[in-house]
Amino acid sequence: MTPGTSLLQSPVLATYARQDVTFVSGEGSWLVADTGERYLDLVAGIAVCSLGHCHPAPLAAAHEQLDRLWHTSNLYWTQPMAELAQRLSERFGGAQTFFCNSGAEAVEAGLKYARKATGKPGIVALEGSFHGRTMGALSATGQPAKREPFGPLVPGVSFATLNDVESLVGAARPDTGVIVLEPVQGEGGVNPATPEFVAAARTLADELGALLLFDEVQTGVGRTGSFFCFEQLGVRPDAVSLAKGLANGLPIGALLVSDEAAGAFVPGDHASTFGGNPVACAAACAVLDVLGDELLAGVQEKETLVRKAFPAARGRGLLLAFDVERPASEVVSAAFDRGVLVCTAGERTVRLTPPLTITAEELEQGLGVLKEVVG
Ligand code: PLP
Repeated sequence: MTPGTSLLQSPVLATYARQDVTFVSGEGSWLVADTGERYLDLVAGIAVCSLGHCHPAPLAAAHEQLDRLWHTSNLYWTQPMAELAQRLSERFGGAQTFFCNSGAEAVEAGLKYARKATGKPGIVALEGSFHGRTMGALSATGQPAKREPFGPLVPGVSFATLNDVESLVGAARPDTGVIVLEPVQGEGGVNPATPEFVAAARTLADELGALLLFDEVQTGVGRTGSFFCFEQLGVRPDAVSLAKGLANGLPIGALLVSDEAAGAFVPGDHASTFGGNPVACAAACAVLDVLGDELLAGVQEKETLVRKAFPAARGRGLLLAFDVERPASEVVSAAFDRGVLVCTAGERTVRLTPPLTITAEELEQGLGVLKEVVG
């Protein structure tokens, strides 16, 4: 195909409003289009390629595993899966993991797990939340426009207002089996939950005999400056969903259940053919190796640079956003024309989720362009 050929007419179902560009390679914070043009990537696959594109550590680990073994089914053990589960348990402070392939699946597993563990079907979720597009995860997604075309959805979900403890308590029912929340709402506009609110959610879950499920699909794996965002909030959830950044771009999802809450699933209760894929798990182990204290501390330093450029920015770590006075898609397009990739989180919100490994110089270059574009 001639470089620069538009693929807009490709026979792909129109679930995304894709930018008219075709990327062919990536390195670090940069993507290269088929035309040879280079783009500074402040999206990173929407908080996925957190170590930058083609980081040598997960790349080598995935290559090595590809040469050795691709798949066995979960009828058997593989070393990368067991090793990743062990490392995640250590990071969490004692947890057992179910592996799947995406964020929605990880949330879905969490909702099913809570129902089995508590025997109670009710879900308390938050307005403005986003948990994925499968029927269970969508049912707990507090954005009516995303839910309404697909009803009837899973019954028994009540929605509370983020950071409003009274509303949270009001949404609870005796049959509530799970309270699910994102420590920072990502797709819903990059709105952080306050420590007071998550503490109240912890207390309420305990009173109800419900599980507290943190959806850290977007906030997890170092995105906010600690491996789990909950580490900064002074609350330990019963379960956590992870996905996006875990294997730096290879498909993976994980539901972690704390040792104290483990034991509800028995063989046959839940499954995933590709879950725990050895190549994805080998890459994820390498990601965890790289994600040490130094890199996490750097996240906070880079957050400061963004806040200096955009003092009204909200979020945590390198999950940040700011509002603009015109449609955010116009800012995205104008930045794209200047070789910088950013994305939206709502009509008038520009979201930044650059690689955690971006250099200060690269980030400042991108912020400079963005400032000019925003005006
Ligand atoms: N949960 C959260 C917090 C997310 O941000 C997302 C995706 O953006 C999902 C779940 C769904 O993940 P996936 O698209 O991998 O199914």
